[in-house]
Amino acid sequence: MLLLPFKVKNTVQDTLKHQGLRNKLVALLKDKGIEDENVLTAISKVPRHLFLDSSFECHAYQNKAFPIGANQTISHPFTVAFQTELLQINKDAVVLEIGTGCGYQTAVLLEMKARVYSIERQQELFKKTKLFLPKLGYRAKQLIFGDGYKGLPEKVPFDGIVVTAGAPFVPKPLLSQLKIGGRLVIPIGDDPQIMHLYIRKSESEFSKETFGEFRFVPMLADKN
Ligand code: SAH
Repeated sequence: MLLLPFKVKNTVQDTLKHQGLRNKLVALLKDKGIEDENVLTAISKVPRHLFLDSSFECHAYQNKAFPIGANQTISHPFTVAFQTELLQINKDAVVLEIGTGCGYQTAVLLEMKARVYSIERQQELFKKTKLFLPKLGYRAKQLIFGDGYKGLPEKVPFDGIVVTAGAPFVPKPLLSQLKIGGRLVIPIGDDPQIMHLYIRKSESEFSKETFGEFRFVPMLADKN
């Protein structure tokens, strides 16, 4: 009988080396202006290299975006940190994410002890991430295959909503699904997008603030 060598599938491996790289990444994010300790602590815990194809592993803790399949990308760590900081979430906050992608932002929110719902419109990514996150011990309240333009009316209201794809405009359902005091963080525009923060002040009033240019893949309707 011929014994073939086999490769053990390297699924969950996080080493001291990776922790060291994460600490450096956190220092870089601080330098770039991220101040929220809860956000920085979460980023120091999530093993970003495991969310990427192994060929990108050595770059996982640089401030870079990478392909994650289905023509989509994992956001830059700075972008994830910036959006999460704008959300200002506390433990047990109910958060809706639009654009699950590979689940990295989801994991950061879960590290912050939020209750996370996340919607992804690409079936391939949805299926992959739904299997992958629990392997790392990350349990979202629900991962949904659907169209983020509609939000998630059955789970309203949300303390925070974060959109991780570039939206052409602010979808009305997302504003209406916020709690009073709730925050919607959404990049709006073509390329680049401008980061927007909407805060619900009352049933019908919202404040709006903008925060510079970012680059995201487009938020698309009609899931496939
Ligand atoms: N949060 C992700 C970022 C992924 S990139 C991460 O940390 O990896 C943006 C994601 O938004 C892509 O996976 C894309 O498929 C998804 N997307 C685009 N339009 C969408 C829509 N209308 N509803 C839900 N997801 C959408």
